[in-house]
Amino acid sequence: PVSAAEQIESHKICVCVRKRPLNKQEINRKEIDVVSVPGMGVLLVHEPKQKVDLTKYLDNQVFHFDYSFDEGSTNDLVYKFTAKPLVQSIFEGCVATCFAYGQTGSGKTHTMGGDFTGKQQNSSKGIYALASQDVFSYLNHRRYTNLDLSVFVSFFEIYNGKVYDLLNNKSKLRVLEDDRQQVQVVGLEEVYVTTADDVIKMIQAGSSCRTSGQTSANANSSRSHAILQIVLRRNDRASTLYGKFSLVDLAGNERGTDVSSNDRSTLVETAEINRSLLALKECIRSLGKNSDHIPFRMSTLTKVLRDSFIGEKSRTCMIAMVSPGMSSCEYTMNTLRYADRVK
Ligand code: ADP
Ligand code: MG
Repeated sequence: PVSAAEQIESHKICVCVRKRPLNKQEINRKEIDVVSVPGMGVLLVHEPKQKVDLTKYLDNQVFHFDYSFDEGSTNDLVYKFTAKPLVQSIFEGCVATCFAYGQTGSGKTHTMGGDFTGKQQNSSKGIYALASQDVFSYLNHRRYTNLDLSVFVSFFEIYNGKVYDLLNNKSKLRVLEDDRQQVQVVGLEEVYVTTADDVIKMIQAGSSCRTSGQTSANANSSRSHAILQIVLRRNDRASTLYGKFSLVDLAGNERGTDVSSNDRSTLVETAEINRSLLALKECIRSLGKNSDHIPFRMSTLTKVLRDSFIGEKSRTCMIAMVSPGMSSCEYTMNTLRYADRVK
C-alpha cells in the first residue's frame, strides 16, 4: 500500500474543479445548467438545447482534472481530496498551498470559509475550519509529538498589490526581498494558537476587519486576495520554520471589460488582479516543470508566496470554482481554461 507521505510525494500539483448548485435567482430566471460532472475527474460543459448567442463557447467541451466535484459535493468531501493531504504534508516539512479560484459568486469563500463554525442551519464548515481541526489532531498524533511543534496563524489581504494585516487593524505592510531572495512581509502578525477554535476566532475577527468601512462589503472582498497561513515552528530550535500551509481565497477572476465600469480605480484594480492571476499561473507551471526560473516577482501575490513554488517540498492544490448557469458560461470557460493550463 502507498503511504500518505508517498501519495503526497507523487502529487505535487493537484487541480480540481467544483461546481456549485444553481441558486434561487438563477432558478427563477429559468437558467439552464450547462455544466455536468459525469465522473470524478471529468467535467463537461454542454451545448445548451435552447438557442443562445453564447454557443460559440460551447461545443460539449470535456475537461479532465484530478477531481471534479458536482453540485452535490459537500465541503467535507472537497476537503478530504484537496486540502487534507496538504495538512499532513506540512507535518512532513512541506510548504503547502491551497487556492480557491473562480469568478465572484462561484463559491470560493463558501469552500474556504464556510460559515466558519458549521453551527448555522444548513451550512457546513469550510476548509479553514476543517484544516485547523486536522492540524491539531496531527499535532497530538504520536507520530509527530516528538517534533515538538507550535502552531501560529497569520491572516492578510492583498489589495491592489498592497498587503494589509487582517489580524492587526488592517495595517499596511511592506514586502521585502533580501539578497538570498527570501521574501518577508515586514511586521506581519503571527499569533500563537493552541486549538482549532483559536484559529476560527482569528479568522472571524480578521474577516470582519476585511470588509469594514466599505460601501459594498462583498464587492471589496471579491477584489482582494485573502491569505490564511498556518505555520509550524520547532520549539526546541529557536522557533525555526518547520512547515507552512497557505490557504488562499483569490480575487474574482472576471475581466475588466465585463465589469462595465470606466472608473479608473476599478480599471487599475482589475489590471492588478489579472496580473497577479497570470503570475500565479506561471509560477505554478514552473513548479510543475521543476523549473529553476520562477517568475515570482511578477506580482505581490506570487512574491509573498515564493516559498510555495520552489523546491522539492512544495505542494499545491487549486480548486477552480464554477457557476453552473448559462449566463456565467463565458466566465466558466475562462476558469476552466486557466485551471487546465495550471496542471
Ligand atoms: P465567491 O467567494 O466565489 O464570490 P461565495 O462563496 O460567496 O462566492 O458564494 C456565493 C453564494 O453561493 C453564497 O451565498 C454561497 O453560500 C453560495 N454557494 C457557493 N457555493 C455553494 C455550494 N457548493 N453549495 C451551496 N451554496 C453555495
Ligand atoms: Mg468570496
